[in-house]
Amino acid sequence: MQRIDLHTHSTASDGTDSPAELVVAAAQAGLDVVAITDHDSTAGWSDAVAAGERVGVRVVPGVEISTARDGRSLHLLAYHLDPADLWLLAETEHTRSSRQTRLQRIVDRLAAGGIPVTLAEVTAQVPPGATAGRPHIADALVAGGVVRDRDEAFRRFLHGGSRYVVSHYAPDPADAVRAVRAAGGVPVLAHPFGSTPYAGSEAMVEELAAAGLFGLETAHRDHDDAARRRGRALAVTLGLLETGASDYHGTGKQNRLGEHLTDPDTLAAIDAAATDARTTS
Ligand code: AMP
Ligand code: ZN
Ligand code: FE
Ligand code: FE
Repeated sequence: MQRIDLHTHSTASDGTDSPAELVVAAAQAGLDVVAITDHDSTAGWSDAVAAGERVGVRVVPGVEISTARDGRSLHLLAYHLDPADLWLLAETEHTRSSRQTRLQRIVDRLAAGGIPVTLAEVTAQVPPGATAGRPHIADALVAGGVVRDRDEAFRRFLHGGSRYVVSHYAPDPADAVRAVRAAGGVPVLAHPFGSTPYAGSEAMVEELAAAGLFGLETAHRDHDDAARRRGRALAVTLGLLETGASDYHGTGKQNRLGEHLTDPDTLAAIDAAATDARTTS
């Protein structure tokens, strides 16, 4: 049985392994297939695919698109989409630049609250070209000796309900689902019933299914048994497939490669659902 992990992060966003290191780690973890799904970026694809050819791991190209509606944040995984698609390029660029200015706003709030950190210290933690996020602020707090690790930084200062945290621009989730399909890709809602502020709702998933959603990432560390059952029930009702994945971030998070897996038949269906946007549009 093939071991397939469809959600991981590299230094193209907030993971700590380079794309090549990520794929080598996947081989060492006994995976046959790994998807690279950085936040709002496809920059890691070519290095990851090249490393996969060297170590005998199949790399599925993907991206985790930040989306938001009514102040709620939803993460949309998209596989096999055209990386040169104009919607994707424009929206991910908009999101990445908004994530950048948001760093300053969060740093200002932290500083006003007496937590010593500067934008320069945070920027020093963002790899060149990477999509910036709260984990990089956490890294600056670690470097400054304020906290021990990213976990402590999130627990104390950077969690979803924290008064220090502000949101960034992100496209609407239904627009994103339609755009991923138009770009030949296959959209899967990441951790649909995970912890706030990522928590989705039945009505939202129904709307996204009507817009072309293909699957739900039901097997994920952020889902307890109740969340998993909710996802399964919706998947059955709406005809969506279920995926499982680690959401690995390297040493930045406890998530272990392969801790949740996707069924080979499900990956085959994802592969088959991908279309060549350049010839069909
Ligand atoms: P942002 O993209 O700025 O909204 O930050 C969210 C990212 O932080 C997500 O990719 C999460 O996986 C990551 N994250 C959330 N909680 C933690 C944690 N306790 N330790 C490390 N990373 C975390
Ligand atoms: Zn992340
Ligand atoms: Fe996510
Ligand atoms: Fe993720």
